[in-house]
Amino acid sequence: MRVVIAMMKHETNTFSPIVTDWARFEQWGAFQGEAVQSALGRTRMPVAAYMNVAQARNAEIVTPVAAEAMPSGPVTEAAYEHMVELICNAVADGCDGALLDLHGAMVAEHTLDGEGTLLARLRDIAPDLPIAVTCDLHCNLTAAMIDNATALIGYKTYPHIDMYEVAEQVGTIVLDAMQGRCAPTMAWGNVPLLSQTLCQGTDDEPMQSLVATCRDVEREPTVLAATVFGGFALADMPDAGASAVVVTNDDEALARVHCDRLLQQTWQAREQFVYQAQPLAEAIGKARACNESPIILLDHADNCGSGATQDVMTVIAAVIDAQLDDVVVAAVWDPEAVTTMQAAGVGADVTLSLGGKTDMPMLNASGQPLRIEGKVKALTDGRWIVRGPMYHGVEVDMGRSAVLDTGRVSIVVVSHHHEPWDRGVFTSVGIEPEHHRYVLLKSRIHYRAGFAKLARRTFTLDGDGVTTSDNSRLHYRHVRRPIYPLDDAVDWSR
Ligand SMILES: [Zn+2]
Repeated sequence: MRVVIAMMKHETNTFSPIVTDWARFEQWGAFQGEAVQSALGRTRMPVAAYMNVAQARNAEIVTPVAAEAMPSGPVTEAAYEHMVELICNAVADGCDGALLDLHGAMVAEHTLDGEGTLLARLRDIAPDLPIAVTCDLHCNLTAAMIDNATALIGYKTYPHIDMYEVAEQVGTIVLDAMQGRCAPTMAWGNVPLLSQTLCQGTDDEPMQSLVATCRDVEREPTVLAATVFGGFALADMPDAGASAVVVTNDDEALARVHCDRLLQQTWQAREQFVYQAQPLAEAIGKARACNESPIILLDHADNCGSGATQDVMTVIAAVIDAQLDDVVVAAVWDPEAVTTMQAAGVGADVTLSLGGKTDMPMLNASGQPLRIEGKVKALTDGRWIVRGPMYHGVEVDMGRSAVLDTGRVSIVVVSHHHEPWDRGVFTSVGIEPEHHRYVLLKSRIHYRAGFAKLARRTFTLDGDGVTTSDNSRLHYRHVRRPIYPLDDAVDWSR
């Protein structure tokens, strides 16, 4: 039995100005051949689970590519075709099944449905090929994905700490199918709901109840997998938004019933999927009045983990103006500033034009650096290994990094985009976040993986950036209409 195992993953923010070329995949992690197994085999990534379940059945494993890039703008045609070609060639060489780790919100320069296009091409090569697919909770599910997969599943956690388990589940389903032990059939659907990422945390409602329903459904013996996707509203493509898929053992009617039930429950909760904004100064005022610590402050509109530039200074400037004291910040993307700080050396006083290096044409906004003085507190190579639950075991490369200390505020400055979802973002540069009053993170929900336990209070700060939750700033062109909450009086029923 020969099994192709591959990862091709990107959450595309079509409003992001950051180019997603092959170099960007290499920056976060792009491996080919046996390097996939040595780099990821002992992590908690889906490909590791796939390799383990396939090995347990004595399968011959082929790993043509495992590539992921930090979320950013559309994937270049060249990068997309490079990955697709590697996977297609491995399948064309002959195999009995494919186990794929995809995201489900990949937009490339020449296709709005990156995953559906890949899967359709694989089925063109091998029409009956059993294919397992894991998707992110932020997957925008499409008909092409379902039509060309054997079984598809999504993460049930946000922050995503169950990547390994869901891949183990769907990998087992498809390996069983290959050995004639089951016959997976799927029903899927979506609702006209562009749900917002900030409202999709699985420790909060409504996702907590939706995931609980999925787990209830999965307890039925005929049901193999049940998933509700929050979707990714910042990928402007026709199927963006909330969806569901249920996999049963050869019972299409049952899959349909459960899928419709999940969709109804999602639609009923639609108002809870819309973020309620509040003025920045008001939120900072509340944080300042709070006596507990540490307090987490979320600069969620500039979250590079959803495609932001990570160099918007609006919130940091407001926190400095409000004279909050004992603040640590992770992180500002500014390779130029790191170079300046490296040249000055640890202990030197520097004046920087920090951040604001990237324009955001889709928001009609130009980059605004912040003039700031401080001392260079630390310099590192930006490399560390994740010890927390999300991406456990993976080596992070933030690029050359530095800490700027203004007296009241210590800012981690990085050369590669990196969302702070693990304490390592601070500890690798000598900061113990739990010993500071305010921990300001350019993150939305993933920070919870590493920081939820230490947070006494959390405040969302509404700044600027291409991960804004303010829909009035985003000009949609491709998403199906009408859709809630962009349009009024949207109806949906089953
Ligand atoms: Zn996600």
